Amino acid sequence: MPKTEINRSRLGTLIEAESDRFTIDHPTSRRLFEQARAHLLDGVPMNWMVAWPGPFPIFVKDASGANLTDIDGHRYLDLCLGDTGAMTGHAPPAVVEAISAQAQRGITYMLPTEDAVWLGAELERRFGLPCWQFALTATDANRFAIRLARYLTGRQRIVVFNGCYHGTVDETFISLLDGQPVSSPGNAGPPVDPTLTTRVVEFNDISALESVLGHTDVACVLAEPALTNVGIVLPQPGFHHALREVTRRTGVLLIIDETHTISTGPGGYTQAFDLQPDILTLGKPIAGGVPAAIYGFSAELAARLSSKLAAEADLVHGIGGTLAGNALSLAAMHAAFEHVLIPAFYEQTIPMATRYVNGVESVIREFDLSWHISQLGCRAEYGFCNPPPVNGTQARLAQDPQLSDYMHLASLNRGVLLTPFHNMALISPSVSPADIDHCTEVFREIVLALIS
Ligand code: PMP
Repeated sequence: MPKTEINRSRLGTLIEAESDRFTIDHPTSRRLFEQARAHLLDGVPMNWMVAWPGPFPIFVKDASGANLTDIDGHRYLDLCLGDTGAMTGHAPPAVVEAISAQAQRGITYMLPTEDAVWLGAELERRFGLPCWQFALTATDANRFAIRLARYLTGRQRIVVFNGCYHGTVDETFISLLDGQPVSSPGNAGPPVDPTLTTRVVEFNDISALESVLGHTDVACVLAEPALTNVGIVLPQPGFHHALREVTRRTGVLLIIDETHTISTGPGGYTQAFDLQPDILTLGKPIAGGVPAAIYGFSAELAARLSSKLAAEADLVHGIGGTLAGNALSLAAMHAAFEHVLIPAFYEQTIPMATRYVNGVESVIREFDLSWHISQLGCRAEYGFCNPPPVNGTQARLAQDPQLSDYMHLASLNRGVLLTPFHNMALISPSVSPADIDHCTEVFREIVLALIS
């Protein structure tokens, strides 16, 4: 139970008032949304874009660094950053320059460019895995990694953690409901019931993991280093060590998805905490927002794969894509890894994220709320429970969609963009201490309105 109770009827009234304010402030976005509804499903190019708070999404005019301006002329501090796709900050100059130069020379050839060679070596240096492939999205990287794991082990099932999200990967839409595996709510048109393809356990539960890996049909565990899509759920001490030990012992491949946890440092959580995965996947910000993803594997897997392919197939079906590894994505990735997502990026952004965490914590304490905030490098997220959750079930129970709606909409109306589906703030390099202090003031103001 919250120490300070949220008054639900007051919350409803506040949401209405914030919604009216939003509508009055955004007449052009509203008009464009109404026009778009004639030809776009739900009035948007991709359905998640209507999941923002408010009766319609804001339409973007432009964005640079940590700031985004909408078509009605409002300027925001963007802590969503395209849900991590623009973690580099919007339009990082090195990437813009590289893609402009590459575009003049051709965009895609289905042939390699020199950038690929530089990238392969750089990725080994960062993540410790010697062999790499490229894809266009983190979803694809995960799908290909799972296929490879099945192909190499000859086993069919995968294991994921309850509360996970790894992209639109069919096998991963599984949840625990009262301890039982079920197809996740909202899983639209699954090709196969995911309870047939996947086993699911709670994060941080080593004995459940031991027992599920006792089955001999598991090809891989697909895991984020910390859950980041059900709020942040951090690993408890010893969890990753045990995960690596039990997967090795049972011959199960460990796939680590660093798509969000690349917020931790230049080599992600894997480098920072020496995770030693068999396969690593990563997408979203690694090309400054240009579609690009990577998946890498150990020397041992690479050797097994090459000999298997040489013996069995001249072309692999189910893995690849015409535009994967295209010249534009490679040029953008090269620029992002060489000039943007470098140690200086993290030295700049992580202290700002810590300042944000301290600000939010001070308000939580001031109003005696039973909330918490967790940090993963330059990423931070508050949640409506305390102590912080240790698994997906606890994290889901703490979710409060009505309260989140209010926090998001009230923040947006005061110039701060939070990520839909998350109470997440991602800090990019041009965020200043004054920006963070403004966020704390906004957070305090909207919490005060909620409880006074
Ligand atoms: N992995 C993780 C951990 C993610 O959070 C996401 C997207 N939120 C993905 C993979 C998939 O990314 P994309 O939608 O860009 O394919």
